[in-house]
Amino acid sequence: MAFVTRFAPSPTGPLHLGHAYSALLSHDMARAAEGRFLLRMEDTDLDRCKPEYDALIQDDLAWLGIAWDGPIHRQSQHIKDYNTRLEALERAGLLYPCGCSRSDIRAALSAPQEGVAFNVYPGTCRNRPMASRQPGDALRLDLDAALNALSTSDLSFTETGPAHAGQNRVDPAQARRQIGDVVLSRKGEDIVAYFLASAFDDADQGITHVIRGQDLFDFTPVQVILQHLLGLPTPTYHHHALIRDDQGKRLAKRDDARAMSKYRAEGATPQDIRSLVGL
Ligand code: GLU
Repeated sequence: MAFVTRFAPSPTGPLHLGHAYSALLSHDMARAAEGRFLLRMEDTDLDRCKPEYDALIQDDLAWLGIAWDGPIHRQSQHIKDYNTRLEALERAGLLYPCGCSRSDIRAALSAPQEGVAFNVYPGTCRNRPMASRQPGDALRLDLDAALNALSTSDLSFTETGPAHAGQNRVDPAQARRQIGDVVLSRKGEDIVAYFLASAFDDADQGITHVIRGQDLFDFTPVQVILQHLLGLPTPTYHHHALIRDDQGKRLAKRDDARAMSKYRAEGATPQDIRSLVGL
């Protein structure tokens, strides 16, 4: 069976040890399967993505001994493809415009709702028609409408990662509670947000195996839902454990102490990095 995987960093900061683990693991798995390992820059956030991080990521990967197959896929060069898919979702009546700011959302959630995670959108704008879209509005996926448009019994994905290995079914109630109406196109510009761009690209790049951090497991259902809405295949998923800092916190881009460039400057070797992440 063909094995095609990808490493998909957002060039919004330097790679840290957690990214190195993800990249090395997916690269090693592709090579072991005699498959392909692709590099995708998730650079649709024009404010936060920087060419110098794009270059640094390539440099760090090469230093780690990671060679990617084919040209780099940059999402910023595929905006037209995403917008075509966005229009299809709009025609199907699955999107609505949303002008809520982060603080509006916080205020709407200030009375704690049981089981509603903080970042799940409370649905304030859900009944707004598309015709009311203002220039600064984001577009959200109406999750209930999407679930109604699909046969939910078909919504499943195979997971090979340690925490949820096996066949995973998308649970609509859990998706409402954990994910809700995600933003598919961001405010201000016709820029597609992560969920749609990534679901589309995995199909476009022929990805058979998505290997990424456990933090994205809970969001996989929305990508499976988007794949079904757009007639795209669902890859096999492998969510790996996260590399944590000494306090047990997951590493973030701002944790410069764990930046690959810092280890390199201190004279670490690629083998030291492999040992540090347990490979
Ligand atoms: N761009 C995402 C990140 O850097 C990864 C998304 C994915 O692998 O699906 O966290």
